[in-house]
Amino acid sequence: PLVLGIESSCDETGVGIVRGTELLAHAVASSVEEHVRFGGVVPEVASRAHLEAMVPTLEQAYAQAGLDVSDVDAIAVTCGPGLSGALLVGVAAAKALAVAHDKPLYGLNHLAAHVAVDQLEHGRFDRRVAALLVSGGHTEILLVDDIASDITMLGTTIDDAAGEAFDKVARLLGLPYPGGPHIDRVAREGDGTAIAFPRGLTAAKDAERYRYDFSFSGLKSAVSRHVQHEQRMGRQIDAADVAASFQDAVVDVLTRKTVQACRDHDVDTLVVGGGVAANGRLREMVLARAEAAGIEVRIPRPGLCTDNGAMVAALGAEVVARGVAPSSLDLPVDSSLPVTRIVA
Ligand code: ATP
Ligand code: MG
Ligand code: FE
Repeated sequence: PLVLGIESSCDETGVGIVRGTELLAHAVASSVEEHVRFGGVVPEVASRAHLEAMVPTLEQAYAQAGLDVSDVDAIAVTCGPGLSGALLVGVAAAKALAVAHDKPLYGLNHLAAHVAVDQLEHGRFDRRVAALLVSGGHTEILLVDDIASDITMLGTTIDDAAGEAFDKVARLLGLPYPGGPHIDRVAREGDGTAIAFPRGLTAAKDAERYRYDFSFSGLKSAVSRHVQHEQRMGRQIDAADVAASFQDAVVDVLTRKTVQACRDHDVDTLVVGGGVAANGRLREMVLARAEAAGIEVRIPRPGLCTDNGAMVAALGAEVVARGVAPSSLDLPVDSSLPVTRIVA
């Protein structure tokens, strides 16, 4: 099926068009620059930016694909989780298009879309896969029996998300928001073994109850204490070593627990998705550790890991192909939609 996907859950206005697993258009407008001076996304500013960017981004996508909304079989839109005001802009646009062009509307889960997007890169999931979802607001290990209808959450973070930890530590190091890409860059010049930062929830006592869960707030505090200690001692902070050691701590725990989950559940394919999946060190370490365990790794190119409309269209194509009933035109947004609710 030919599906148009709209994304507006945070600060990216994204429109994608796919035919099955073929990517036809991938247009993204970001309001990230407008949030930099606040050190984080300001919901009101994001909503307004979505309003301004929605029509131009749709037009850019039509131009890339050489078709327009009247040609598509369905309209898919992120209806959660995310910022309510931001989600409302995408959902309102999708409803308007659905009504005006008499197309079925599908309200979809943003997190499932972060996983589904890999089908555009590496083809359909032809069996059960495990997924590591690492983004600005979420960190989860998932079992995906069917990307359109059956996702189980094995574990999640008990405090901060991985991307949130990157952003907070970047701030401690005086790097701009969003910090993930800056840490990634600065860490390349550093030594990841320079400082022994804690690996949350990896102690033997946590092996049962928190087997697939994560905790990054203790790590963030440890980085903060380290920075303060160096300052008190009158020493220059080696930002590259701190960034690399922090990054190694995050990536070590993410990859160790995910490979463990694959082994425990006898899954031989792992998909990695979400903004943090763009991280160079994570990509390197997950490949090395999974391959050593005989697990095939699928990670989309970085531009499809961060928020975009193609991921929503990719999930939409899968849902439409299964003959799932469309959403109601009253489709509400749900800022805390759980990953297990794939179609609203
Ligand atoms: P969610 O998907 O949980 O709703 P979100 O949509 O805001 O949150 P994404 O766009 O998927 O999140 O990812 C953004 C996050 O990814 C930010 O925290 C950002 O710092 C992080 N990120 C982006 N690129 C990198 C990178 N190269 N290394 C580490 N983190 C990165
Ligand atoms: Mg973003
Ligand atoms: Fe996201």
